[in-house]
Amino acid sequence: MKKIFRAVCALILTAGLVGCGSAPASTADAPNTTVEVTTTMATTEATTTAAPETTTAAPETTTEATTVLEYAPIERAEIDPEKPIIALTFDDGPTDLTPQILDILEEKQVVASFFLIGNNITDATADTVKREHAQGHEVDNHSRTHSQMPEMTAEEIAAEIQYTSDKVEELIGIPTPFFRPPYISVNDTMYEAIDIPFICGYLPNDYMDTVDVQQRIDNVKANAKDGEVILLHDFSGNVQTVEALPTIIDNLVADGYQFVTVSELFEIKGVTPEEGQMYTIVW
Ligand SMILES: [Zn+2]
Repeated sequence: MKKIFRAVCALILTAGLVGCGSAPASTADAPNTTVEVTTTMATTEATTTAAPETTTAAPETTTEATTVLEYAPIERAEIDPEKPIIALTFDDGPTDLTPQILDILEEKQVVASFFLIGNNITDATADTVKREHAQGHEVDNHSRTHSQMPEMTAEEIAAEIQYTSDKVEELIGIPTPFFRPPYISVNDTMYEAIDIPFICGYLPNDYMDTVDVQQRIDNVKANAKDGEVILLHDFSGNVQTVEALPTIIDNLVADGYQFVTVSELFEIKGVTPEEGQMYTIVW
């Protein structure tokens, strides 16, 4: 059943990508001033870990420390707007695979954006969501149930988005800033009912078992563009993306890319997301 669903998804996704925008981005439009990317979202957690300087012998570990406190924001170089930027995004989490993705991002000192399915946010995955936020990643919205939303009423659509945003806000204190439609399947009712911007992305087909690790690596390398959103998946069992990710990142770094969240992509490119549009490249 899931396989059939994914196959349908692929068709819709391919069709959807046609309208997602694919013109090459121009770096000429980039502002001359350097943009300092802040990670204020996670500073509240970070500051609570700092021991007062006057303390003579702070204990090495405290039993009270929560999982979140173990994760400091990923240290990043200042973004140079003259150089290309790109946003890695992951759909369908949080799952048991997500911590492996987070470990790689931490090791590579790269930030990403996670588009969560509301029904996947449970007691078992709550710490993963907190970790995403604490490390400076963006937590975005991929509906509550991952259904074909064009078949829903406006009220049902709004409830899907609200549920996931509320669950995220309960955990990290901020609502979800962006929405990615399940299967990139959209209609006018959705654009009217959902009041956060829609994000598409370049899809290296990493949701298909038949697309192997090397193909995933090659697809991203061949299709990376300045200002682009890359659409990957952290659904449970997607181990080929875990295997591909370190090389995907290394290749992008070698090609001069800097990694930003989706919000930062718009901010750095000086673009205000418009209603009724779905973005794959921001410039
Ligand atoms: Zn999805």
